[in-house]
Formats: sequence, C-alpha cells, structure tokens
Amino acid sequence: MTRTSLRAAMPALHAATLIAALAAAGFVARPAAAATPSDAKPATGARYTMADFDKVTKIDAHVHLHNADPAFIDAARKLRFKVLTINVDYPDFPPLDDQQRVAIALRQAAPADVAWAVSFSSETSDQPGWLAATERRIDAGLKAGAIGVKVWKNIGMSIRKPDGTLVMIDDARFSPLFSWLARRGIPLLGHQGEPHNCWLPLDKMTVNNDREYFAHHPQYHMALHPEMPSWEDQMAARDRMVAAHPTLRFIGMHMASLERDVDELAAFLDRFPLAKVDLAARIGQLQYQSQQDREKVRRFMVKYQDRLMYGTDVSQPPQQSGAELLREVEPVWRMHWRYFNTEESFKVDDLDQPVQGLGLPRAVVDKLYHLNAERSFPTAWKAAR
Ligand SMILES: [Zn+2]
Repeated sequence: MTRTSLRAAMPALHAATLIAALAAAGFVARPAAAATPSDAKPATGARYTMADFDKVTKIDAHVHLHNADPAFIDAARKLRFKVLTINVDYPDFPPLDDQQRVAIALRQAAPADVAWAVSFSSETSDQPGWLAATERRIDAGLKAGAIGVKVWKNIGMSIRKPDGTLVMIDDARFSPLFSWLARRGIPLLGHQGEPHNCWLPLDKMTVNNDREYFAHHPQYHMALHPEMPSWEDQMAARDRMVAAHPTLRFIGMHMASLERDVDELAAFLDRFPLAKVDLAARIGQLQYQSQQDREKVRRFMVKYQDRLMYGTDVSQPPQQSGAELLREVEPVWRMHWRYFNTEESFKVDDLDQPVQGLGLPRAVVDKLYHLNAERSFPTAWKAAR
C-alpha cells in the first residue's frame, strides 16, 4: 500500500458516506452491499455486462485488511470477490506483527477467499543477522500460508545509509534475500517509487487524486525535493534488481510505477518475461490514457492479458468494520467492472471528463480478474483440506 492508495480510496469513501446519508434520509436505495448472491450464470455473449458483476469469480489482488472480523470477506463472497491482503512495512499501518496476525486469522477463517503476503522490516538491513532473521520470518509466514513477500517504497525513498544516501532496491544487502526467493520460486511483490505525477508540478499532474494529495502533502511531493532520487532513478534501480535475478518471480505493484504510459509498461514486460503487474490504485491512469487513445489502452490490455492482475489497494483501518469497508469499496469495484467490460461513457472521480469503457472480451477479463492471480499464486484461495 501506499499513500496513493489512501487517497485513491478517499473519493470512494466520501461517495459512500454521501450515499449512506441520502439512504438514511430516504432519497436513494441502499447500495447493493447486502444483496444476495446470484447463482445464475452470466449471460452468454462476447462481453460481460454490469448484470454479470456478481456472477463472475473475481479477485482483488491488492488489499490491506487490518481487522480480523470476517464480515468483509463474507460480504465480498456474495459478490464473488476473493482477496489478497498484503502486509506492508508502512508506518501508518499497524505494526507488521499485528498485520500478520490479522492476515493469518482471516485466511484460517476463509482459506478459499483470502490469501496473504508476508513482509519484513528493512530498518536494520545493514546489520549482521538481519538476513537470517528475515529469512526465518518469511519462512514462518510461508508456513502460515503466505503466497509471496512484499517490499515497499521505503526502500528507495526513506531508508538511508550512514552517509545519508538512500538505500535503493538494488543495494547489495538485499541481493541474497532475492536470490533465496528466486531459488524457492516465491513471488516478490515490489512497490518502488511513486506515480510519475509525484515528480511533476501540480498543474501538470494527470489525475485529480494525485493533485489533491500532493497539494496537501508538500513534504511528499518530489517535484519540491530535487535532492531526492528522480522517478527515473527509482525505475532504473528496480530494473537493475530484476535484471540481476532473472529467475525471480517479480510482481510490480501499481503497474510497476510505469502507470503514465502503457508503452513504457509494455517495454518493462517485454524486457522481463517472468514479471507481472497489478493495476492497484492506478486504474485512473489507464482511464486517463483511454481518454487520449482508447484503442491503444485496449490493445495493451489484450496483448498483455496474461501479465495483468486486478486490484484496488483499498486499506482498512483497524477500527473500520467490514460493512463500512464494503460500502467504501463496492462502488469502486463496480466502477472498474464498468470500465473494463462495457463501452459506456461515464464520469470517474480521478478525471474531469467522462471516460469510455474498454469493452474487453470475456477471456481477457477472466484473466485480469482471477486466472492470472490464481496462476501466479497457485497455493492461494484453496479451501482447507
Ligand atoms: Zn498497497
């Protein structure tokens, strides 16, 4: 997860709050959160429709659940959604051990619906003993069902060497760990850098949520901090690391921070044939590109249909109930379904002008929404034996 994901979730939260208030006042029907699942099969045709939303298996492969109450999972199941909840070494989240306890509890309660990824702290990564301790921690996570290991942008953007320079993801200290993961076939889920907008002035940013977030958080707005590594520096360090571990199953979170141009992301996927990416918290960037050249985005989605995973990056604060979380995420899930499946034009929070849906073929949608995640994480989403 990321600061971006929090701001990505914000408009949805506000919309859900507004809808709930209107519903309480009797102005609109409650959102369909409590609707019973349909056992009907999706209608046949080249594309899914909005009516198929709760009839097709879907995986949100990038969420952060921090509350062991299974209410959210139970409600998501009625919409045919499964999740991958990802632990992150992020100071705004609960401590890693708490995140892990929640993830294991949720998976144990619903192994067919919940998968999780383990993470670790890099704060002491320059000290002897860190590597062995980190491998032990990951091993314990894998024994408890973790399907991969997450590394976050604190590597590259906040952890420093004694001389003050930033520790990048291709630093030699991490190489033995990534080789160990590669040998064992364990996926590395990497979020390095930030969206390219972070390095642009506010009036040059392409989506509203970036503009709003960085206007209110100048300390994180890299355009104001030229002493920090550039977006190009972050991408180059990540690429050197992936190139140095050619058998590593690398999964780039957030379109591998190459969200600004599907051609750049295509070049990354061409260069690293084992790599895959999720779309979490960057679908607004795809929609922005759709406004410029919808056919180009559509061609990308079709050509790389085996390499892309759907995800939202929705984050649950520990005190947030499952019902509240569902009210926040369900409108986002439905908006994304509309974008990928239909050819309707509609307004989204990220953009001032309407966007037209991509109308992707069913086979592409099935890969995006569950088959690629199931193939990438073959032990995930299996009922207990
Ligand atoms: Zn995330």
